[in-house]
Amino acid sequence: MKYIGAHVSTSGGVENAPINAHQIGANAFALFTKNQRQWVSKPLTPESIAEFKANCEKYNFNPAYILPHDSYLINLGHPEEEGLEKSRKAFLDEMQRCEQLGLKLLNFHPGTTLNKITVEECLDRIAESINLTLAQTKDVIAVIENTAGQGSNVGNEFWHLKYIIDRVEDKSRVGVCLDTCHTYSAGYDLVDDYEGVFQNFDETVGFEYLKGMHINDSKKELASRVDRHDSIGKGTIGFDFFTKLMSDPRFDNMPLILETVEETLWPEEIAWLREQSSL
Ligand SMILES: [Zn+2]
Ligand SMILES: [Zn+2]
Repeated sequence: MKYIGAHVSTSGGVENAPINAHQIGANAFALFTKNQRQWVSKPLTPESIAEFKANCEKYNFNPAYILPHDSYLINLGHPEEEGLEKSRKAFLDEMQRCEQLGLKLLNFHPGTTLNKITVEECLDRIAESINLTLAQTKDVIAVIENTAGQGSNVGNEFWHLKYIIDRVEDKSRVGVCLDTCHTYSAGYDLVDDYEGVFQNFDETVGFEYLKGMHINDSKKELASRVDRHDSIGKGTIGFDFFTKLMSDPRFDNMPLILETVEETLWPEEIAWLREQSSL
């Protein structure tokens, strides 16, 4: 079965996310558990946590299909000690918030070299950051998102993901999320080589590590290394790819999350994707 949703608003509190997701016809969703543009946020209140759980139950959202996303400020591969420490502290807080909410996954962008260290050095730091965080938490899986490779971001090549996983001690608590826009922008031709790209992914990383997908079209061409999402079917990837994806059982039973630009289209996009999954 396909679990399809979008990255919904938590305006007014995290407890509103399941309500917002229900209203767009989703059976999965993503959210920020804190303000994604600030380093520190107020702790979640016991009321907010209880209401979040109650709303998830009321609207039938299973934690397995909820994919929280961490703050954009965090760089787990930061080249400098101060930035690295700050990022690790913030990431631990993110993971603890997920634990409090009863969530099982935490999606994050791996990091950036800031052109001060090599890709491998950055990936080593990311793996170490994950190990340090997992040692202080329970249950939640660290889900590494592939990137478009914009600027000095790492995570745009499948081997980067594998390199990190290889260095994570508890393999049961690490996974990946593939963003279709990022994958295409990073140079993997989802349009003309659907089978080849996912075979490459399976051989390099392994489908057993795939914990979720971000379902986005792209405003930029193949291998542009620019991260600009577009609405489904309106960008350079196009409808056909998403039809194939929705009927591919390798993407069953994981959160498939829209981060497309036009929120008003989400109900329509979700309904269309669901229709493709039943063809
Ligand atoms: Zn994404
Ligand atoms: Zn993106």
